[in-house]
Amino acid sequence: GAVIGILGGGQLGRMLSVAASRLGLKTHIFEPGANPPAADVAHMVTTASYEDEAALTAFAETVDVITYEFENIPTSALDILEKLRPIRPNRRTLAVSQDRLVEKAFLSEHGLRTAPFAAVDDEVDLAEAIAEIGTPAILKTRRFGYDGKGQARIMTPEDAEQALADMAGAPAILEGFIDFSHEVSVIGTRGADGEIACFDPGENVHRDGILRTTTVPANLTSAQRTDAVLLTAKILNTLHYIGTMGVELFVTPEGLIVNEIAPRVHNSGHWTQNGCTVDQFEQHIRAVAGWPLGDAKRHADVQMENLIGDDMDRVPHIAKETNAALHLYGKAEVKPGRKMGHVNRIKT
Ligand code: ATP
Ligand code: MG
Ligand code: MG
Repeated sequence: GAVIGILGGGQLGRMLSVAASRLGLKTHIFEPGANPPAADVAHMVTTASYEDEAALTAFAETVDVITYEFENIPTSALDILEKLRPIRPNRRTLAVSQDRLVEKAFLSEHGLRTAPFAAVDDEVDLAEAIAEIGTPAILKTRRFGYDGKGQARIMTPEDAEQALADMAGAPAILEGFIDFSHEVSVIGTRGADGEIACFDPGENVHRDGILRTTTVPANLTSAQRTDAVLLTAKILNTLHYIGTMGVELFVTPEGLIVNEIAPRVHNSGHWTQNGCTVDQFEQHIRAVAGWPLGDAKRHADVQMENLIGDDMDRVPHIAKETNAALHLYGKAEVKPGRKMGHVNRIKT
């Protein structure tokens, strides 16, 4: 069977490895950090830096195809890897999704709606951006942000100075604040032959910038549901994407607005593990391995709850619940804000 190389050994790499193993495939994880969650379940693990050319080369030579569970891979590492093995999803997608400014420009060029945005490198840019976009607005670092990190709210122009200081000199983007009624996401997969399968959109609730729950079905009209799936398919096709992607959307009375795209399996798609015939992880492995996609049909109503930090104290109780499927990541150390696991509750 084929060996899938995965860049990144977090919980997403772990669940991808489990899915690959169910299909009789092996995974080789490349991860700079020690004791990654994926190491328990992967066939092979390389612990090395993305700067280590010899380690990257040796890793690539053991695998048939390379994918990733994490989008902030240095391009220098991709230069080395892509000479040796195919990288799926492709590099252009990584370049687009690594930088919020490039991402928003890409989306709006292709006719998709985003929050109004402007590049901000200094106080002059910020003053101009606020004059153009208005307040409230959100200043975000262009790169490396996740779980709401690297963001500052600007409620009035007086907040500008502090917000810029919060960016610590990093290139930033100002986004107009979208007055959405709720947030949804579509998890879609495009196969090597261009076939597309999308899961039913999920409704997402965040707390302190971190995803708390995803619920399916989402509160959407059938027109909105169709729109969400079609725009996801458009993004996948435009990027010649191979693999699973998460598309985060704001629902407004004027229509759907794209917040961001994630070129990988996505936390808001974890419900598919217990709600679908084939889950997002298996779909991703199928796509990158060149298999036909599976049946993404949803067979249950599900709520996924993330177990973050001290939520782990509730695990003994959750373990006794009926219709609850626990997924724990085997992380040794509990930290505030750290994703330790999730539970999928099937609604009956
Ligand atoms: P993730 O962990 O999903 O990658 P992130 O750090 O990349 O998160 P965003 O998704 O950009 O951050 O923002 C986090 C949350 O902040 C959003 O889900 C939404 O609730 C809120 N938010 C972000 N941008 C806007 C906006 N322009 N208008 C209104 N709310 C926003
Ligand atoms: Mg993000
Ligand atoms: Mg997000």
